[in-house]
Amino acid sequence: MIFKIVSLFLIGMGVLAMFGKLTVPGMKRLTDAKCRRCGRFTFGKPCDCKGRG
Ligand SMILES: [Zn+2]
Repeated sequence: MIFKIVSLFLIGMGVLAMFGKLTVPGMKRLTDAKCRRCGRFTFGKPCDCKGRG
């Protein structure tokens, strides 16, 4: 019975760790995809606001 609880706990921790690993790079990529000047999503392309400042 205890083994079952421990295994469930470990699975829960693993899922949390997996989500943590998946979420952090995704958030970083999301911020990288944004223009640093105007904050619009550019996804690596040069933003329209570049010439206008
Ligand atoms: Zn911009």
